[in-house]
Amino acid sequence: MLAVVPPPVTVRVPSKINLHLSVGDLRSDGYHDLTTVFHALSLTDEVTVAAAEEPGVEVYGEGEDAVPTGANNLAWRAVQALAAHVGKDDPKVRVVLRKGIPVAGGMAGGSADAAATLVALTGLWKLDIGRDELAEIAAKIGSDVPFALYGGTALGTGRGEQLVPVLSRHTFHWVLAFDQRGLSTPRVFTELDRLREAGNPPRVGSHAPVVEALASGDPRQLALLLGNDLQAAAVSLRPGLRRTLRAGVNAGALAGTVSGSGPTCAFLCVDAESALEVAAELAGAGVCRTVRVAHGPVPGARFVGGEDLN
Ligand code: ATP
Repeated sequence: MLAVVPPPVTVRVPSKINLHLSVGDLRSDGYHDLTTVFHALSLTDEVTVAAAEEPGVEVYGEGEDAVPTGANNLAWRAVQALAAHVGKDDPKVRVVLRKGIPVAGGMAGGSADAAATLVALTGLWKLDIGRDELAEIAAKIGSDVPFALYGGTALGTGRGEQLVPVLSRHTFHWVLAFDQRGLSTPRVFTELDRLREAGNPPRVGSHAPVVEALASGDPRQLALLLGNDLQAAAVSLRPGLRRTLRAGVNAGALAGTVSGSGPTCAFLCVDAESALEVAAELAGAGVCRTVRVAHGPVPGARFVGGEDLN
């Protein structure tokens, strides 16, 4: 009798920016407490999983050469984590990543791929596992992975993995400036610790005004409140970002911020038309490698052309 091979399953997953990112002091265990407002954007990766005799990961698209294809790939870690959860040893799957999210760009592309892989495998393996159960597995893979499952706009605490949805009434329009190279997240945190030991860099305040601005839906109000404690550290390691941030505002954006640990800069625009104008002008300014427009909030990891998870 012939074995029935299930068809491949594809999932699309959003990137994230941080509208607010407050970093606590270095803890004795080497981590920092975070309070952040995550916002999922329409700049996405696509992940396809298929049954295969030769398991592994293939990567195409944005930054493909910088992504490991072995056991370190976060998508493969997701395969192993879900296989262990359901008692499958030796999972025979091939994972194909089509990347639109910049690698090491502060937009959680690797975490997005892990989240997408979890969702895709529930389809391939016909598992009856909902988003909340997947989120528990996701949190063990990395602190940004649960948000990529849910998407939308959410307040994250702990290391960013404890999530509460935030009401956001409006679609916001963004321009993203990708830098020539990525920045290592641990290096940026170490640089922040160094800056804090050497002086007293300003800290972002409470997240509450950002949450209110999101509820009001007014991009002008939100623009005044974007804030990221990691920005000074990212700019210290990559001084050219100062010029990029200035160029976006000069091009007509309401405000700009470094996304997460950088180096991607995100510029909030008043509407979709303005975002296209800002993108065109920024692309001509010679301050970054690539420019993209995106909007948010968008949903988390979703099957392409299939049914949704619980
Ligand atoms: P974060 O903001 O979540 O710390 P980031 O967005 O700055 O991360 P990622 O693109 O997630 O950065 O990748 C960080 C590093 O993780 C890369 O330099 C790469 O070596 C490794 N990595 C592992 N798996 C992946 C993946 N699927 N896609 C991209 N990078 C990956």
